[in-house]
Amino acid sequence: MPLELVTLPALSDNYTYLLHDADSGATACIDVPEAQPILDALQSRGWTLTEIWLTHHHHDHIGGVEDLLKFCDAKVAGAKADRHRLPPLNREVADGDRFEFGGEFIDVLDVSGHTVGHVAFVAAESGYAFTADSLMALGCGRLFEGTAEQMWDSLQKLAALDPETLICSGHEYTQANARFAITIDPDNADLKARIERINSMRERNEPTVPCKLSAEVATNPFLRAADPAIQARLDMIGAAPVDVFAEIRARKDRF
Ligand code: ZN
Ligand code: FE
Repeated sequence: MPLELVTLPALSDNYTYLLHDADSGATACIDVPEAQPILDALQSRGWTLTEIWLTHHHHDHIGGVEDLLKFCDAKVAGAKADRHRLPPLNREVADGDRFEFGGEFIDVLDVSGHTVGHVAFVAAESGYAFTADSLMALGCGRLFEGTAEQMWDSLQKLAALDPETLICSGHEYTQANARFAITIDPDNADLKARIERINSMRERNEPTVPCKLSAEVATNPFLRAADPAIQARLDMIGAAPVDVFAEIRARKDRF
C-alpha cells in the first residue's frame, strides 16, 4: 500500500504535508509553517505525529515547529548543513542519505539554490518528492543564497526522478508562475492547457499542488532551458542550458 498523502494549506500561501503509513501508524509532517492546521488534520484522522522533516530554515517552513512539539512527541529531521539555523534535530541528513519510514526508503537530495542546505525528501516507492522551495509548480524558488548553477543542478536531480512522481512543493504560487511561464514559452500547447486547468482549480479554491513531474518537464520553463523554442525566444540558441536557466530566473525576478 502506498503511503497516504495529505496536502494542507497553511499561513497565506504555504503548504505542509502529512505522510501516513496505515500499517505502522507512522505519520510524518513535511515543513511546519504553523501548528494548527497540522494538529487539526491529525485529530480529524486519529493520527499521531511521529516525525517532522524540514526542508530549509526559512520561517514559513519551520515557524510552527516549537508549537507543534508542545502537542506531539515527534522526531525532527533536517539538513546537517543547516543545523545552526533549524530547530533542534533528532536526525541530521545530507545528500544521498536514506532512511526508513513506514516500510519504505526515503531518499534525501541536496537541492540547494533557494538556500544553501535546502533538502528534498523523496518517497520513491509511493512516488512523492517533497521539494518545498526548489522545484515548484511551473516555477522554482528565488535564488536567495545559492547560484544559478546550484539551482540548475538541483532541478536536474529532481527532473531525473520517475516522471509519475508527485512534486509536493511549498507554496501556492502557481498562477503567478503561469503568468510568467507563458511569456517564456508562449507556443507551448501543454502549457496553455495546463494554465486553463490551473485557473479553473483556483476558481474553485483547490490547491494546484502536488503536480506530476511529467507535467513540470513539459511545461515548467525552469526545467526547459535546453528547449530550442525557448532558446530562440531568448535569443540564446545553442547556449549552455545553465546559462539559459540563469536568464529565465533573472527575468522572473524582474517580472
Ligand atoms: Zn523558502
Ligand atoms: Fe517558502
